[in-house]
Amino acid sequence: VKDKGRAGFQFFTTEMNTRVVDRMELEVGLRRALERGEFVIHYQPKVELATRRIQGMEALLRWNHPERGLIQPDTFIPLAEETGLIIMIGEWVLRTVCEQSSKWQAAGLPPMKMAVNISARQFKQQDLVERIGAILAETGFDPGLLELELTESYLMNNVDEAVAKLHGLKGMGLGLSLDDFGTGYSSLGYLKRFPIDVVKIDKSFVDDILINPDDATIVRTIILMAHNLNMKVVAEGVETGEQLDFLAEHGCEMIQGYYFSRPLPADGFAAMVRTWGIE
Ligand code: C2E
Ligand code: CA
Ligand code: CA
Ligand code: CA
Repeated sequence: VKDKGRAGFQFFTTEMNTRVVDRMELEVGLRRALERGEFVIHYQPKVELATRRIQGMEALLRWNHPERGLIQPDTFIPLAEETGLIIMIGEWVLRTVCEQSSKWQAAGLPPMKMAVNISARQFKQQDLVERIGAILAETGFDPGLLELELTESYLMNNVDEAVAKLHGLKGMGLGLSLDDFGTGYSSLGYLKRFPIDVVKIDKSFVDDILINPDDATIVRTIILMAHNLNMKVVAEGVETGEQLDFLAEHGCEMIQGYYFSRPLPADGFAAMVRTWGIE
């Protein structure tokens, strides 16, 4: 028993050390990634159900690591958030998508809405509105095409401050979406106070929409509630035609998910838009 205990303990410390080393490596790597241009953005279309047209897209960050290959954001965003690096990364993302979007328009693609994820740490910045305004001015991007995806977790932290910032952003002409809706402590009373245009139903509800009556009820309720508050609804993580039919039947306006397309690199996305057809 003693031996097993010791072996277990040793295993545990080795494991812990590995994790510490991994974390340090990751942090050092993240710091360098910006300078070395290792971040890339993939774009996933949002399709309008009524017209089946690409209404816009979500920009999703990936890290093209020299040894490890393409790393998904869930692996590094939490650490970027913890270390504060997310602020610089987030501004890089904003600048890059504004530039990309202008290039696409210059190449003849139609103007499409560009949605960007904003992290808690970024949203907390006192001068968030000014910083975003500066990037829009610098890149000459149409604010009416930029949409920010925000989560209720940090909007609920300090509601008055959040409401003021959201009005500042809306004042510049930006669109605002509430991401991962239904996963946090949604308080309907507060929701009414946020000048939000779009609610995004979290993938976890969409997954079981056809087999779990509770999830189906939640989704129907979110759609009704959003419409009563004059907000539109995007369902994320839609993978099947059956899920799409359910959402269409209940009035959901837009769909994002593998059913239409995975997130694609810029070139692939442009090619898809061209094949899909431009009006
Ligand atoms: P999110 O904002 O909820 O983004 C949606 C995630 O669902 C994306 O994962 C997307 O690839 C995935 N997804 C979309 N449709 C489907 C589907 O049909 N099936 C499945 N299985 N997955 C689908 P991704 O790209 O790995 O991003 C994960 C999270 O990382 C995002 O979740 C977001 O919270 C964060 N993130 C990504 N890019 C950025 C960024 O530029 N800044 C910040 N702050 N966070 C980001
Ligand atoms: Ca999002
Ligand atoms: Ca989401
Ligand atoms: Ca999510």
